[in-house]
Amino acid sequence: MSECSLDSVDLSPAELLRYERQLLLFGAEGQKKLKKTSVLVAGVGGLGSFEALYLTALGVGKLVLVDGDTVEETNLNRQVLHWTDDIGRPKPISAAEKLRRLNPNVEIVPVTERITEDNVDYLVRQVDIVIDGLDNWETRFLLDEAAYRAGKPYIHAGIYGFEGQVVVVVPGETPCLRCLLPSSLKSPSKIPAAGPIVALVGSIAVTEFMKLVTGVGEVNKGKMIVVDAYTMDMMKIELRPRKDCKCS
Ligand SMILES: [Zn+2]
Repeated sequence: MSECSLDSVDLSPAELLRYERQLLLFGAEGQKKLKKTSVLVAGVGGLGSFEALYLTALGVGKLVLVDGDTVEETNLNRQVLHWTDDIGRPKPISAAEKLRRLNPNVEIVPVTERITEDNVDYLVRQVDIVIDGLDNWETRFLLDEAAYRAGKPYIHAGIYGFEGQVVVVVPGETPCLRCLLPSSLKSPSKIPAAGPIVALVGSIAVTEFMKLVTGVGEVNKGKMIVVDAYTMDMMKIELRPRKDCKCS
């Protein structure tokens, strides 16, 4: 979402055809904004697979896929970009292969590293927006801080069993993730997770992304979207900045 003009962005006849149905939602201008946008997908597991899939289908300009793990059999119930033949392969490589086949217009950059204190700022600098496909709070807080420092939006998504939540963090406009949650929060090593619920929450995150970038639709800034798939209730919780937080 760089500030420079959209005049330098062209949509080919093939792109206009591919995106025909979504152009009815946000027009060629919205599509050009998507094409100009680069996104870091942090983690290419359950949430990250769905996020990367829909970001690629939407037609963003560049996706940087970061994950240090390899595909395991226990991933296959929900991490839809990884298939049986991919067991043992690095997740970003496995994902990149399918995403390029889905939409060759999108530049896919696989990074087979864990996100750490040492590389997080470098990674965030490569992109316009960060989207969370992680399964642990430690890395989320690292990303949240790095994105805040860089002044870039960070879309948090998380699931636990039937429940999930999405928060859009925009530096200077909304509270950050640390305003909401204690940074000592730890994640269990095995989170209960089924594909459809991961898809639901990942899809909400990419929908917020799409609205944020195209400017069409209401982005839920300063709110936490909470989904309970057990009952299929959805609610929004108003967020307040914490006074002693680094972001305020
Ligand atoms: Zn904060």
